Amino acid sequence: MEIFRNWSGSMVFTPGEVCTPESEDQVCELVKKATSEGKKIRVAGAGHSSSPLVRTSDYLLSLKHFRGVEDPDLNNHRATVPVGMTVKEAGKDLFRYGLAMHNTGDVDVQTLAGAIGTGTHGTGVELANLSAMLHGVRMVNGKGEIVELSRDTDPETMRALQVSMGSCGIFLKMRLQLEPVYQLYRKEYCVSLRDCMDNLEDLKKNRNFDFYWYPRTDLCKIRIMNTEKDKMPDISYGSLELERKGPSHEILPRERDIKFDEMEYVLPGEKAMDCFLEVRQRVKKEFRRDVAWRLLIRTIKKDDALISPMSGRESVTISLHHNAGLRFWHYFQAIEPIFLKHGGRPHWGKKHTLKAGQLKEMYPQWKEFQETRQKFDPENTFLTPYMHELFISDE
Ligand SMILES: Cc1cc2nc3c(=O)[nH]c(=O)nc-3n(C[C@H](O)[C@H](O)[C@H](O)COP(=O)(O)OP(=O)(O)OC[C@H]3O[C@@H](n4cnc5c(N)ncnc54)[C@H](O)[C@@H]3O)c2cc1C
Repeated sequence: MEIFRNWSGSMVFTPGEVCTPESEDQVCELVKKATSEGKKIRVAGAGHSSSPLVRTSDYLLSLKHFRGVEDPDLNNHRATVPVGMTVKEAGKDLFRYGLAMHNTGDVDVQTLAGAIGTGTHGTGVELANLSAMLHGVRMVNGKGEIVELSRDTDPETMRALQVSMGSCGIFLKMRLQLEPVYQLYRKEYCVSLRDCMDNLEDLKKNRNFDFYWYPRTDLCKIRIMNTEKDKMPDISYGSLELERKGPSHEILPRERDIKFDEMEYVLPGEKAMDCFLEVRQRVKKEFRRDVAWRLLIRTIKKDDALISPMSGRESVTISLHHNAGLRFWHYFQAIEPIFLKHGGRPHWGKKHTLKAGQLKEMYPQWKEFQETRQKFDPENTFLTPYMHELFISDE
């Protein structure tokens, strides 16, 4: 019996069997086997989600053998990335072909398939989450058949598959819409919260901008990136803490050695700062002592994936970080109603308490998503009890 532990250690389970297929045929056979036995099958990437998306007592797949960028197309800036590759590995390989992703999240150790599957995002008002790169996909559906789809031929279905958490099929390869390689300049400053708030609209004009707020000191760290040196602002009201430049895949992500648990909500842009100020008030009043760490605020461009948390809304995310190993639910559950009051949608891969009843009210195209999902997986082979609660019924 092999125990599965996510990155922070807050989600632990024992799958019935861990499988590491080496060929597409083996993936098809495993799905057929699970379906014929009435069992469930989930695929795990790098274990960086802390919601139990991959939890199963039946089959858990790792596709770590599916690697190596294929078919680079330098005219249309596209390439195919097999699903065993991490964001870091894909970034390095793509760079060799003169291609780059438009953004990454804060780290690059997730698999790109896992990151796309949950709508993982970085920051930047003009930059959509990573799933927006998904131009086409080769996958195994719930009947164990290989299906190939692309935005050219099946744009509506692709909008369902874009953020689907392995619930429609097991992705094998992803055709991505990329960009020519580019350099980034990065600067980080320590500023007062007041200065950060007063200059927010200007700060948002940078290609990438986000900020951490530290409850104990009421100070912020702002992080800014641009493609041209001339566009880098000189922040006279802050102290410069870091300055770097290099190819985008090296500059966008950071290393993380301190482990933490996280709740992140995606808010409609116009309501987000009111929400942040209310969260801040609550944190200062009740949690300043035990929340030793920080909150992260980011901006993200809207997309049109059916159940992407940024679907149809220019968005701002607010995330609560709490050191791994410490009790976090009392804090997260106290703040979650504030996110909900302001129209927040939870990040699919982080802690939240929502189930189908609440989630379906948040997504105007929820029904269309569920219908497409059902077509690909008629026997519900990918729907574990948690996924059932999330998508179908809380009862
Ligand atoms: C330290 C840290 C930093 C993070 N930073 C950010 C950030 O900056 N921005 C952000 O938005 N999120 C962030 N996250 C969340 C993280 O990006 C997501 O949870 C992501 O989904 C994790 O990818 P993974 O490879 O670990 O996949 P998993 O967590 O293992 O899986 C995620 C989902 O993808 C599905 N999946 C995986 N592979 C496949 C496949 N081949 N076919 C179909 N479905 C598949 C799984 O079934 C599951 O539903 C962070 C998490 C951590 C721990």
